[in-house]
Amino acid sequence: MLLSITTEHPPASDLGYLLHKHPDRLQSFDLSFGKAHVFYPEADADRCTACLLLDIDPVGMVRGKNRSQGDLLAHYVNDRPYVASSFLSVAISQVLGSAMAGRCKDRPELAETSLPLAARIDVLPVRGGERFLHELFEPLGYTVEAEGYPLDEQFPAWGDSPYYSVTIRGTTTLSQLLTHLYVLVPVFDNEKHYFVGEAELEKLLAKGDGWLAAHPAKEQITRRYLRHRYGLYRQALSRLIDVEELQASSEEQDAAADPETVERTESLNDQRHGAVLAALKASGARSVLDLGCGEGKLLRQLLQEKQFEQIVGIDVSIRSLEMAQKRLKLDRLPRHQAERLKLLHGSLIYRDRRLEGYDAAAVVEVIEHLDPPRLSALERAVFEFARPKTVVITTPNQEYNILWESLPAGQFRHADHRFEWTRAEFQAWAERVAQSFGYTVRYLPVGPEDEKHGSPTQMGVFQL
Ligand code: SAH
Repeated sequence: MLLSITTEHPPASDLGYLLHKHPDRLQSFDLSFGKAHVFYPEADADRCTACLLLDIDPVGMVRGKNRSQGDLLAHYVNDRPYVASSFLSVAISQVLGSAMAGRCKDRPELAETSLPLAARIDVLPVRGGERFLHELFEPLGYTVEAEGYPLDEQFPAWGDSPYYSVTIRGTTTLSQLLTHLYVLVPVFDNEKHYFVGEAELEKLLAKGDGWLAAHPAKEQITRRYLRHRYGLYRQALSRLIDVEELQASSEEQDAAADPETVERTESLNDQRHGAVLAALKASGARSVLDLGCGEGKLLRQLLQEKQFEQIVGIDVSIRSLEMAQKRLKLDRLPRHQAERLKLLHGSLIYRDRRLEGYDAAAVVEVIEHLDPPRLSALERAVFEFARPKTVVITTPNQEYNILWESLPAGQFRHADHRFEWTRAEFQAWAERVAQSFGYTVRYLPVGPEDEKHGSPTQMGVFQL
């Protein structure tokens, strides 16, 4: 199995820096299922090709710890040593992991630059035919060239095999190209050599960040990547849909005049986080969750309070988490500080065991982003399963909107809001939730209070 990556972007031999592999050397790596070799058949200033050759040990596969299942003949007679499969994905991540992550110490700017790149795979099993190659690669901006092979040259009547030599070409970063191959090769093959569980779902969503949610074949990619485990597939898909909706709505906001500007007075945001912080401190909590932490403004304040020994921020948007990571300078914090804080990727509408056992949780300006079925799912995920002793929830008070001249009547403060509640509506919801899950709740206004319309933000503090 051979993967060849070519560029003609001068100086083309810089590909060696991007791959962290010197063009003059043949390098070999021991993997659990055999060996991987990296070498360059050509490395000139105007054209450079790097090859990753997999030498899978078929006997080791039968006898070793990676023993494959199935009938005995298939143990010894199969295509695995010769084709691109999930073994290739493992090799990419283990041998070219830094390049896939977009890290390049010597040429950092090059790692972020879109380059004209070609990748050729000899050979790729395509369960689904040549059309499937076009359907998966073309929406990602690649052109596809596929060369099919007959099942047996001596018996043309047997027809075509599922094997193709495939070349894709596009202008993209090397990191994106490797990530696309990492995810899609096992999708074409429709097989995986290892058990597929929750970790694979997280891997798919992380590696698919920025492209999978908008891919027209996302259902098929997800289903095959997760080996037809339907529970995982459904979970992945609804998280992808969440991401897609969030992305679409934030793009809309960038384009149109943003009604959120009415709220962009930093002071209201600060007052809100100040009020939440005060409620969390008063609860005596030592461990806190920031559910839907966004870009981490509240997390930063929580970190400044010694009372909080363990802090967790979770959000469905990877982009927000990346911003949070930057804003909090996580990689530069002293170790004892960094150890207090964890950022998690996840959706609040699913039960998540990582969120159990904390003293308190904040849910700041999140619930109004969820439509009713998802909001009820969040209620259970937070109050029934994660079940912190204190939960602090804020949401806009719709009655106050009329006092914002820049906000047209009847419009929400944010394009992605599914609702904005009056005080009575919020309190009716909160009473029901408190009662169903055994909490008590009290309400506090946040921001300047108007006698008739109340304050811009309303806050409920739930207590077990
Ligand atoms: N709490 C932050 C951000 C509020 S914006 C603050 O006070 O500044 C709403 C946040 O909720 C966004 O970051 C969005 O990505 C997140 N969010 C929306 N739906 C979510 C879901 N189902 N699971 C987790 N986070 C979600």
